[in-house]
Amino acid sequence: MIRSSENSENKLPKQIAKKDLARAIASSAQEAYLVLDGELNYIEANAQFLHTFQFQDKAKAISEINHGDGIFNDLKDLLAGKLSLHKNIENSEISIKSTHRSFGRFKVNASKTQDPELILVSFSAVSKDEDENLENFNDIFSQAPAMMCVLRGPEHVFEKVNKNYFNVVGQRDILGKPVREALPELEGQGFYEMLDGVYNSGKAFIGNEIPVKLQSDTDQSENSFLDFVYQPIFDSNKEVKGIFVHAIDITEKVLAKRRLEQSENDLRNVIDAVPAIIWITGADGLNNYLNQKWFEFTGQSAGVVKNFGWLEAVHPEDRDRVKREFKKASNERLVFHESFRLRNKEGEYRWVLDTGSPKFNAEGKYEGMIGMVIDINEEKQKERLISEKEHRIRSIIEEADVATALYTGKEMRIAMANDAMVNLWGKDKSVIGTTLHEALPELEGQPFHDLLQGVYATGETYWGKEDPVDLMIDNKLQTGYFNFTYKALRNENGEIYGILNMAIDVSEMVRSKEQLKDSESKYRQMADLMPEKVCNIDASGKLIYFNQGWLEFTGLSKKDFETKNLEDFIHPSEKEEFLESWQQSLKTGKDFEMEVRFLNKKGKYRWHLNRAEAIFDDNGNIQIWICMATEIQKIKAEEKRKEDFLKLVSHELKTPVTSIKGYVQLLLNLLKKKKDGELSGIPLETSLQRIDQQVVRLTRLISEMLDLSRIEKNKLVLQKENFSINELVTETIQDISYTNSEYNIRIEEDHQARIYADRDRIGQVLINLVTNAIKYSPQNQDIKVRIHKSGKNKVAVSVIDSGMGIDKENQKKIFKRFYRIDFKNEDTYSGFGIGLYLANEIMKRHKGKISLESEKGKGSIFTFSLDEASNHLQSN
Ligand code: ADP
Repeated sequence: MIRSSENSENKLPKQIAKKDLARAIASSAQEAYLVLDGELNYIEANAQFLHTFQFQDKAKAISEINHGDGIFNDLKDLLAGKLSLHKNIENSEISIKSTHRSFGRFKVNASKTQDPELILVSFSAVSKDEDENLENFNDIFSQAPAMMCVLRGPEHVFEKVNKNYFNVVGQRDILGKPVREALPELEGQGFYEMLDGVYNSGKAFIGNEIPVKLQSDTDQSENSFLDFVYQPIFDSNKEVKGIFVHAIDITEKVLAKRRLEQSENDLRNVIDAVPAIIWITGADGLNNYLNQKWFEFTGQSAGVVKNFGWLEAVHPEDRDRVKREFKKASNERLVFHESFRLRNKEGEYRWVLDTGSPKFNAEGKYEGMIGMVIDINEEKQKERLISEKEHRIRSIIEEADVATALYTGKEMRIAMANDAMVNLWGKDKSVIGTTLHEALPELEGQPFHDLLQGVYATGETYWGKEDPVDLMIDNKLQTGYFNFTYKALRNENGEIYGILNMAIDVSEMVRSKEQLKDSESKYRQMADLMPEKVCNIDASGKLIYFNQGWLEFTGLSKKDFETKNLEDFIHPSEKEEFLESWQQSLKTGKDFEMEVRFLNKKGKYRWHLNRAEAIFDDNGNIQIWICMATEIQKIKAEEKRKEDFLKLVSHELKTPVTSIKGYVQLLLNLLKKKKDGELSGIPLETSLQRIDQQVVRLTRLISEMLDLSRIEKNKLVLQKENFSINELVTETIQDISYTNSEYNIRIEEDHQARIYADRDRIGQVLINLVTNAIKYSPQNQDIKVRIHKSGKNKVAVSVIDSGMGIDKENQKKIFKRFYRIDFKNEDTYSGFGIGLYLANEIMKRHKGKISLESEKGKGSIFTFSLDEASNHLQSN
């Protein structure tokens, strides 16, 4: 501030130019400074002046001041008025302005020097802000919704109080009073001390939600709450002169907040009481609340669960998944739904289901997630059991050799089919998921769709046994045979939802059964055709099968035969032995063989060779006996004949030998008596004839037997030659006639022929036939031997007798070995029954034929025929 001084004025040297002086004064001043002359014309101004009043240079200032439009008019008036009275101007406030420009209000000090005459003017701006703020402040102050007051001095005297403050404190007369006096109820609430603190320290104090109890409060129990600022007010010396108080009543807000807290608290209590774990996370996904149940369940402490600490209780195998899924849900604000194993405080892991949803506040801002954890261990366990069971069943079905499929719904959709079933169908796995109609169109027209629908409707299981099924396999419709089931499947409500189909391919079995049946029937047919008697007997000895042979033999019906035992037909003399031996075989399984006589339908016993053989099963047990009885009556008869033959042979040999011996003895005795060796009177001729006859007979007997043995050993050698059959017949008949003079044997030669044959053998045949004709024609002695033609190039010899003849039955048999017709008086016709057999054998070896025509009682014609020799030679 420039102070004009009388002294300095007086001491100014005269010679100093007005202007220089003015410059020195102006430039030394800090505030805007103007120097005028006595006529109020410009002499000098400092830079501050030029700046303050926005003159670009001094010339502008001069022109304005000396000739200006009136910015400084008011100043000039003031100066002219005061200074003319020789008074200094001190701190006069004037506005510096023109009609279109205003520089604000200034405090002006001015004084006048005499020699030189200078008017010194300083300007200091009255702060425009301060000025306006004050006005504004007053407005705000009084109108502000906040409580405001200004307290002065250490006693905090109410200097200024706004309307709101009055409202809050209750329209009391507090202006000009110290706080302690004006608001005595604040005693003990700490405000006085706070104010003292601010006043003494000069530091502002900010209080938040500070409770205050004022007398004006109607409800004494309730506090009001204030947010406030105690702001110290300083004077120009930077010393505290008062406190500006700015307070806002936030009672409503605090109470609302308290209520919210309360209700949140209540909610927490409720949540804690809920029998489930409840959690809340923030928008960052970090856990900020877990109810009591969590801690009870996991035994975790509150400190541990923070952030992702709760994951510590999750099973290590599930942890990463749960964390990942939770973070995803939290970040993307999605519903969270995971089940996992959670360790309880006993250390046991239990399955839980954790579900959470994003939560948003009233403004729609995402605030995090809220969720719930429930123990689903039991269910999970059940589910696991079920799925294990299902898995087991599935794998059993998959692995099973038994073809298995599962159809669901009425449309029979193939829900499952194992490899075995798919193979059986001749399809591949692609049929799964299709309906049976689609998968196996070839079933159309077969009974299976209807059967399935039936099972689906009634729930009654269908058992197929060896049912034929036509399936398209390798593009060919092929018939297979299956044992299978259609079994209805029911859900827990008992409703049918599908059908389980299990099938076993028994085609091979059916086919082999058919084959077996076939071969069995063939066997039966064969057995029935067999002349042998066949039967099957089980291990216990029971008759279970017999063939037609038995029925024919016994003349019984099938029904009657079934009631019989084999022993019932056995001859009493063999029965005992049969039963004993058969029982032995039944016991041991050893083959059985015995010759027994069975009674036939004619009441006759027939010899049979009875054989039985056991068939064993894999375990070595007797399954069945196969028995066969072969009739051996003929063999037996032949055996008998052989026996008889031997008897005969010995008898036949004995007779001639005894006879020869007798004659020889007789002759010897007679010779002894005739001492002189006289032969007269001794029947020498007849005796020798008899001996000779017997020797011939013996010779024939022996040669026949030799021939027989030769033939049996196939050692009969033919000495063939070409000879006349006529000659042979003539010679032979001559010989026979010689010894059988009583017989009239005629030869009829209708044909002449030569043959190529063994002459002796053919002769032997002829002798045999003629001697038989003689032997068996005791009553009629006429015998004819006829040589005749028989067919082309064949010659035949017939021996014709009118003897006893042979009945039809025996006509063929007589050519057999040892066969002799049974006569009542056997001794009459001696013989062995080998003559015709030999004759037949000799003819066979000559490719000739022997035949017989005969009628019992009337005679017989035996004819043999041979190729003629010419024919033979030609062919040779
Ligand atoms: P045998 O030595 O008994 O005569 P054969 O083989 O020659 O043996 O004859 C067999 C049987 O045929 C005789 O036992 C007899 O019964 C019968 N037989 C053979 N020839 C005649 C015939 N001409 N007339 C009647 N029966 C005959």
